Amino acid sequence: MNTNNQKMSSRRFAKTSAGNAAEKLISRQVMEKDDFVALLGDFGNQETGKRLKEEALRLRTQYYGRQVFARGLIEFTNYCKNNCHYCGIRGANRNAARYRLSQKEILECCREGYRLGFRTFVLQGGEDPFYTDEKMAAIVREIKRRYPDCALTLSLGERTRESYRLLREAGADRYLLRHETADEAHYRLLHPAGMSLENRRRCLYNLKSLGYQVGAGMMVGSPGQTLWCLAEDLLFLQRLQPQMVGLGPFIPHHDTCFATEAPGSVELTLYLLSIVRILLPGVLLPATTALGTLDPCGREKGLLAGANVVMPNLSPLKNRKQYELYDDKACTGEEAAECLGCLKQRVEDAGFTLVSGRGDARQL
Ligand code: SAM
Repeated sequence: MNTNNQKMSSRRFAKTSAGNAAEKLISRQVMEKDDFVALLGDFGNQETGKRLKEEALRLRTQYYGRQVFARGLIEFTNYCKNNCHYCGIRGANRNAARYRLSQKEILECCREGYRLGFRTFVLQGGEDPFYTDEKMAAIVREIKRRYPDCALTLSLGERTRESYRLLREAGADRYLLRHETADEAHYRLLHPAGMSLENRRRCLYNLKSLGYQVGAGMMVGSPGQTLWCLAEDLLFLQRLQPQMVGLGPFIPHHDTCFATEAPGSVELTLYLLSIVRILLPGVLLPATTALGTLDPCGREKGLLAGANVVMPNLSPLKNRKQYELYDDKACTGEEAAECLGCLKQRVEDAGFTLVSGRGDARQL
C-alpha cells in the first residue's frame, strides 16, 4: 500500500465512519470488516491516531503495568525448504551462506541467556527438514530439563499436527507462526504455488487446540498489500484470539523477487500496534527488530504505541548476519550482554522497565 494510496483512502474514509469505528473498537464491540476498513482508512488522521495510542497505552498499563518482557531469540538455522518471495533465507537464494546450530550450540545460547536473566527462549528457524521431530523434541526436552522455570517458544513454520503434538509433549509452551496475510490473493502473491493460506490457518488452529500459546501476525507494507488485506488480517486476529501477535514492517531483501519494493511504513506499523493492543488487550506484542531497523527509535516508538515485548538476539555472534531476512537487519553485531544492557537503558528511557520472567499473556 503506497503512501499516496494511504492518503487517498484516508480522506475517503474520514468522511464516513472512521471516528465511529475507533470508538467501536475502544468500547470492545465485535468489529466487522467495514469497521476495520474505516479505521485503517483513517490512518493519518492525527486525532484518531492520538485517541488509539492513548487507549492502547492505557490498556497495556492496566494489563502489564510498565513491564516489558525480554525474550532471548535463538535463530538456530537459516536453511529453508520454502520460497516465500519476500524472505532473504528462502531456499532458492543461492547467495545465502547457510548454517545450522547443533544441540550443544543451542544449549550454549540458552546457558548464556539464562545467565543474563532471560526466562523465555525463542527458537526460530527456516523450515529445515534436518530438524526432524525426534531431533527437535530432544532439544526441547533438554532445554526444559535444564531450565524448568523458563518458557520455550518455537517458530519453525508449518508442520503436521502430530509434529506439533510431539513438541508440545516434549515441553514447548508457545508457538509463533505469522499468518503473513489473511487475504487469499495477497497470500498467493507473496508465496509460491504449494504454499497456502488454508494450511497456514490450519496450523494455527492445530497449535491452539494442542494448548500452545499461539502467535500469529503479518508484515506491514508487504508488496500488494491493500487496506482491505489489513482489514482481513485484523478480522482474522479477532477470530483467532492469539496470545501473541508479531507485527513488523516489510523490508526488502536484495536477493528476492521484491528487492526493489519500498519498505513498509513505520507510522502505519505503530498505528496497527495500537489497534491490536485494543483489539486483544492482554496480547504479548513485540516491538520488532524490523521496526528498529527502519527507525533507530522504532522499538521505543513501538512500546509507546502498545507493544510490551522485545526480542534481543541470543544467536552466536558468528551466525547473526547470516540470518538475513531483509537488508540491514539491526542488532546483528553486538554481544548479547552488550545488546541487553543498551536495550535495558533504552526501554527505561522510554518510561518502561525491562523484566525477566516468563511473562505469560494476561487476562483480566
Ligand atoms: N520459518 C518460520 C515461519 O515461517 O514462521 C520462522 C522464520 S520466518 C523467516 C520469520 C518471519 O520473518 C516471517 O514470519 C516473516 O513475517 C518475517 N520476514 C521474512 N522476510 C521478511 C522481510 N523481508 N521483511 C520483514 N519481515 C520478514
